[in-house]
Formats: sequence, structure tokens, C-alpha cells
Amino acid sequence: MGKKGGQVLITEEGLRHDGRRPDELRQVRMEVDVLENADGSALVEFGGTKVLAAVYGPREPIQKYIVLPDKAVLRVRYHMAPFSTSERKSPAPSRREVELSKVIREALESVVLSDLYPRTVIDVFIEVLQADGGTRTTGLTAASLALADAGIPLRALVGAVAVGKIGGTLVLDIDEVEDNYAEADMPVGAAPDIGLVTLFQINGVMTKEEVAKGLDMALNAIERIVEMEKEVLRSKYARVGEV
Ligand code: ADP
Repeated sequence: MGKKGGQVLITEEGLRHDGRRPDELRQVRMEVDVLENADGSALVEFGGTKVLAAVYGPREPIQKYIVLPDKAVLRVRYHMAPFSTSERKSPAPSRREVELSKVIREALESVVLSDLYPRTVIDVFIEVLQADGGTRTTGLTAASLALADAGIPLRALVGAVAVGKIGGTLVLDIDEVEDNYAEADMPVGAAPDIGLVTLFQINGVMTKEEVAKGLDMALNAIERIVEMEKEVLRSKYARVGEV
């Protein structure tokens, strides 16, 4: 089951190529305040996927015509560093990066309290340092943490993870090897504290039941991911309190 290109993706015992159970996340690491010059920043790792997010603002933009009279404009740039993939990625912006920037911006717009800052812009830069699957979900998680680190008021924190379908089995937090052979891949982003799904995509074919089960798996994991975000932010403020 799940054997493609000589690689066993799900063993007889139901384990994945890296030894994880189907509902297991990769090792997650989060850190905030990693950049001196940004207002907020975060480094988030899901296994081999490493993403840095930097937030600037709210600030008055140089191009004044882009502002809105009643709220801040959120700008998001998702970018993969040329050294982030096994084969050097072209540094030119790709259609995929343009699409992911939009998807992540929309996923953040529903939680940022942008009406508190009219006539300003908030810039979010997402830089994929190392790509091993799930860069949009790791990027969204890092962006949410960096916004909170910048002190920008949010309705709630957002976390994200993708569920994949391999040989008919649903697996949480798929990596690149799995993604290459998966029948489907479903990235989900959510703000569990306000019961909001902010990103939901499906690439491939899944039944209605699989979508429901996959969404459940993702949302359960996102609750844990958001708890980790809170923990990282709490320890930052505990450190500030000690100074
Ligand atoms: P996501 O990273 O959100 O899963 P995709 O499904 O588009 O988004 O990509 C899956 C994985 O494929 C990425 O995480 C990355 O490891 C790899 N990948 C994507 N684009 C490129 C690229 N241009 N060059 C090399 N690898 C890439």
C-alpha cells in the first residue's frame, strides 16, 4: 500500500516513511523576535520545512495612494529562497508565489483588526528558508506569530497544517516526499479560539467523508499548534518581564 517509485510511503504497520503515525505532526519548533529590524518576526519549523516571517507596521506607506480611509491595508509576500529547495529555485517571482501570497493574505485578513489603523499598511514578508512540504501552512503559522509579536491586535491566533491522502490513508502534516505521491493534499488554516477556518484548499480528489475526517484531523492539530504559539508568546513576555 502506498508504494511509489520504490519508496514505501505507508508500511504494513501503518507507519509513514519517516516513522510517523498517520495523525502525527512533524517536530514543530517556534521562535519569535528573531529579527532586530522588523516590528515582529517569527521562525517556524515543521520538520525540514523552515519559514521566517517578518512584519512591518502599521506604518504610513511611501506610496500614499494605496491606503484606505477606514482600515489598514495588509500586504503579504510569500517567497521561496533560491536555496530553499533541492534544485535551485529561480529567484524570479513565480505564479505559485503570487497565488500563495494572496491565499495567505486572505487567511490573515479575517483575524487582523485592521480597522484600528486606517491609512496605514501592514507588511508581512514570508521567506521560505527550507522547503520540505507544507510551506504555505508553515508560512501562515509564522505570519500569525510575527503579527502577534509585532503587537498588532488580532481577533485570534491562526495556525495551519495540511492533511494528505496516500494509498487511501489520511495523513497529517505531509512532507515533500509524501506530497509528491499523494492522491490529494488539503491545507487548512484556522483560528480555533473564534471557531474560524481561514484557509481551506484541496488539491486532488477526496470523498465527502475523507474531507470531513481530514478537516477534523487538521483542526485538532491546529488547536495544538495555536497552543504552541501562545506558549512561545507567553515565554517572550515572561522574558521581557524579567528585564
Ligand atoms: P506547500 O509547500 O504549501 O505544500 P506545494 O504543494 O505547492 O505547497 O508544494 C509542495 C512542496 O513542493 C513544497 O513545500 C516544496 O518542498 C516543493 N516545491 C514547491 N515549489 C517548488 C519549486 N519551485 N522548486 C522546488 N520544490 C518546490
